[in-house]
Amino acid sequence: MPSECLFCRIVAGELPAAQVYADDAVVAIRDIAPQAPTHILLLSRKHIASVREVGAEDRDLIGRMFAAGAELATREGIAAGGYRLVVNTGRNGGQTVDHLHVHLLGGRPMAWPPG
Ligand code: 5GP
Ligand code: ZN
Repeated sequence: MPSECLFCRIVAGELPAAQVYADDAVVAIRDIAPQAPTHILLLSRKHIASVREVGAEDRDLIGRMFAAGAELATREGIAAGGYRLVVNTGRNGGQTVDHLHVHLLGGRPMAWPPG
C-alpha cells in the first residue's frame, strides 16, 4: 500500500471518512464535496492507480464494486429514479485521486453530455 495514497489511508482507517459500506474488497464513503444529494465513492481495498492498471485478476473486484454501487443505490432510495456510476480515468477524464474508485451519484436528474 502506498503510504502517501489518500484512499489507501482511508481504507486503512488512518484518515476519517463517513463510511457507508465495507466488505473484504470494497469500502464505500460519502464524498467530502458532494455533487448530488447522494454522492458515494466506492473504493477498492486493493491499491490500483486507475482503470489503466486494472488486470484480468481484478475482474471479480470490478464486478463487486459495481454490485456494491447498485446495492447502495437501493439503500439510498435512488435506484428507481435512476443514478449514475462514474469512473474518471486520467487527467482528461477528470481523475484527481490516483486510487481506483467509482462515484455513485443520484437524487437529481443528470445532464448528458458530461462537462
Ligand atoms: P476523482 O476526481 O478522482 O474522480 O474523484 C475524487 C473524489 O474524491 C472527489 O469527488 C473528491 O471530492 C473526493 N475526495 C477528495 N478528498 C477526499 C477526502 O479526504 N474524503 C472524502 N470522503 N472524499 C474526498
Ligand atoms: Zn491507494
